[in-house]
Amino acid sequence: MGCNHTIKVIRASFLDILSVVDDPADIEKNLRFIEDGLMFVANGRIEWIGTWEEGKDKIPADVRVRSYPGKIVMPGFIDTHIHYPQSEMVGAYGEQLLEWLDNYVFPTEARYKDKDYAKEMSEFFVKQLLRNGTTTAMVFGTVHPESVNSLFEVAENINMRMIAGKVMMDRNAPDYLLDTPEISYNQSKELIEKWHKRGRLLYAITPRFAPTSSPEQLDVAGRLKQEFPDTYVHTHLCENKDEIKWVKELFPERASYLDVYHHHGLTGPKSIFAHSIHLEDCEWDCLHETDSAVSFCPTSNLYLGSGLFKLQEAWKRKVKVGVGTDIGAGTTFSMMQTLNEAYKVMQLQDYRLSAFEAFYLATLGGAKSLSLDHLIGNFEIGKEADFVVIDPCATPLQQLRYDNSKSLADELFVLITLSDDRSIYRTYVDGQLVYARN
Ligand SMILES: [Zn+2]
Repeated sequence: MGCNHTIKVIRASFLDILSVVDDPADIEKNLRFIEDGLMFVANGRIEWIGTWEEGKDKIPADVRVRSYPGKIVMPGFIDTHIHYPQSEMVGAYGEQLLEWLDNYVFPTEARYKDKDYAKEMSEFFVKQLLRNGTTTAMVFGTVHPESVNSLFEVAENINMRMIAGKVMMDRNAPDYLLDTPEISYNQSKELIEKWHKRGRLLYAITPRFAPTSSPEQLDVAGRLKQEFPDTYVHTHLCENKDEIKWVKELFPERASYLDVYHHHGLTGPKSIFAHSIHLEDCEWDCLHETDSAVSFCPTSNLYLGSGLFKLQEAWKRKVKVGVGTDIGAGTTFSMMQTLNEAYKVMQLQDYRLSAFEAFYLATLGGAKSLSLDHLIGNFEIGKEADFVVIDPCATPLQQLRYDNSKSLADELFVLITLSDDRSIYRTYVDGQLVYARN
């Protein structure tokens, strides 16, 4: 399914970052920009990339070159934290995290018990990702297995690399959304056995956050992680100050919020902690020591008034970071708009986020944060062929700013500042065209 045995040849400008870095100052050195480039894709993999001059004689006679003059081909964007059932409630007014969950999120998530509804919304969600150039996402479902089955079915149709999981939640939420430790264990296990590593799909054990899981349920989550060690763990951490206070009341025996997860065996190289804004020193240390990752969700953090993520600390302490839209506390599916807001969040902390660093976070850095950098994130030969064709002049204002940009850094920064889904000209997943702008 989705496996393509024909060769595709793409001619355009190409931009990617060649290797994972420990220091943002090293990103630019690892940048590859091929102004007039050529890329061969076969069987869903990158087969060759180089300049037009080097490659033009290798083009098989019967293959049509897909030529995108004036466009830039980039690796597909990687959204490291998003809730698909919240697509329908983006822009819910007036609350911070805990009230926002009670008033808006929980009533919405109740609908995903209905498989047909979940399927319809999964299709909407995946289309939104693709029209925004996002080719891999780390996704929350709801407490209902139906929500995850639907999403995986839709992703599998196009052989999209997607990580998702059923929410585990057995307290401090409305009854109609609660499971129990035992139910959450059985349902998660069944989903893991059905979906994890099926094609390009991967499973994440997904306790919503510490306040909505009893210690017994967190034990069960840890047990699943032990039984299926190469699955992911996906949850929230230190997003909001009231939330942190509440965790300390609920788990007085634990040294910190993160220690709740760590104690239950939920930290590690495949654990993704969304937000991680208000971290104590010991929590940064634990993230580093366990090689856990965090997801920086700027539009969400601004929207819910949660706080400013300390990206500079993450670099300093060598903690892996990806970027997440966090729909529906986040306000856009566009990773470009998300990076635009990331720049502003860092401006408020006197840190100058460069265009290259932003681009890294949305591609290879995001892949690294999900332990997928051996498969996606750049155009290394043999990697999976997920990429976007960007139109850097999609609007008159973009055209004006592109024309007066003086360097690649300028052009890329303007793109991040001004672009959104209008700039996504084509999206390819697994070497196949899955979205074309009208
Ligand atoms: Zn979230």
